[in-house]
Amino acid sequence: MSKKLVIATRNNGKVVEFRRILDAISVGAVELVSIDEFAGLVDVEETGATFAENALLKARYTAKMTGLASISDDSGLCIDALGGAPGIFSARWAGIHGDDKANVDKVLDELRALPDGQRGAHFICVCALVMPDGREAITEGRFEGKILHSAIGDQGFGYDPIFSPHGFSISSAQMSAQEKDLMSHRGKALRAIAPHVMEMLGGLG
Ligand code: IMP
Repeated sequence: MSKKLVIATRNNGKVVEFRRILDAISVGAVELVSIDEFAGLVDVEETGATFAENALLKARYTAKMTGLASISDDSGLCIDALGGAPGIFSARWAGIHGDDKANVDKVLDELRALPDGQRGAHFICVCALVMPDGREAITEGRFEGKILHSAIGDQGFGYDPIFSPHGFSISSAQMSAQEKDLMSHRGKALRAIAPHVMEMLGGLG
């Protein structure tokens, strides 16, 4: 069986983290393949009502179209004071999909009047692994913290410049990659899915 694993996302921030986290836990002989290597794949519409449904939509489509094992994540920022929003709508919170700057500005604006004690938030990442024969696994990771009053830092992507992890006074965009991966939602979800990758792709290393 092929040991290729397609990363089913075009979000470059995610791709960088997927490669870094999976490389660090050494999923052995599995070759991580970019979705850009396949012609004719469209962006899957995220019509699910949950992170899990959307993660599965992306991984199932990619596994079907490529005939290869595929891994995806659906992730987002859940803000207590906004009742869990933007949640599954995080990538397009300000209207245009993937406009990180506009999304960050909108959140800062919405929370402008809120004091520190009411700015709790967490990231969620649901990872889906789908095999071409239909086997599936799904895992979840959470990253607790709060929303800062202004953006700071140039590492990471998305909402990192306004998210301060629990127990830290810096933003996740000021952390080293290794530091963020250790505690991030994506780090947790990917480390949890690694044993399933190893089992389903028939032994690694
Ligand atoms: P989706 O999973 O493609 O729907 O998009 C998830 C969105 O959530 C991203 O575009 C970011 O805006 C946000 N997000 C997810 N994970 C992170 C992260 O690790 N740091 C910052 N923003 C994130």
